[in-house]
Amino acid sequence: MHPKFVAAKNAALGLWVRAGGYAAQHLTDGIVPGAIAKMYGTPGQVRKLVEVGLWHEHGHRCSHAKCLQPGPGDYAIHDYLDYNPTRADVQARREREAEKKRRYRARGEQLPLDEPDRTPPPPPRPRRDDAGPIPAGWQPTDADVEAAQLARADAGLPQLTPQQLDTVTRRFVRRMTDDQVRAAAWGGRWQGWVERERTEPAPASPGGTVLQHPAMTKSQQQRAGLDRLRQNGGHSA
Ligand SMILES: [Zn+2]
Repeated sequence: MHPKFVAAKNAALGLWVRAGGYAAQHLTDGIVPGAIAKMYGTPGQVRKLVEVGLWHEHGHRCSHAKCLQPGPGDYAIHDYLDYNPTRADVQARREREAEKKRRYRARGEQLPLDEPDRTPPPPPRPRRDDAGPIPAGWQPTDADVEAAQLARADAGLPQLTPQQLDTVTRRFVRRMTDDQVRAAAWGGRWQGWVERERTEPAPASPGGTVLQHPAMTKSQQQRAGLDRLRQNGGHSA
């Protein structure tokens, strides 16, 4: 093949790539406005893309279910929505993420680990005099446990067992330590962690019986909180 044709083809592919970038950035669902095609490439390149089926003109009969019908003078990128999210999907996801961030920020919490937050961290808050690092053996109060379990119940989540509470508490203390977080009180943050903790469906414990774990002295106050919660079942907090 003559190098000129190769060059022409490569130029057309360059147009295809740039126009694809435009469509993705502007969420056009793969539509390339005619004015953009003109700006990014030559008429010959456009013809080439249409000819080989990478682009469609108005009135095209591509059998691909996801190829949109462009307006007269515009183009549709073949297959585009196989490799790119729709405008509606992107906007819905952005809205969900923004809403999630608003919720966590409102509670002064960090986003959970499994949902990476790519926005820069907020500036550190002014340090309060009574703020300090979390004590190594920090434990939630009965009231913390109760509030967290009630919040889970409100959210339709299963209650955490004393062992699960211990696990969350250990993770929480480790993270607060690793992140060198300083605070005057920890109960509210801890509650946020417990509220977000996902669990496998817990096996039913008939009659509210809790397995005895004599070694786990730390869990005793949590268990007491749980028991009180059960007795107070139906109360509104
Ligand atoms: Zn198509």
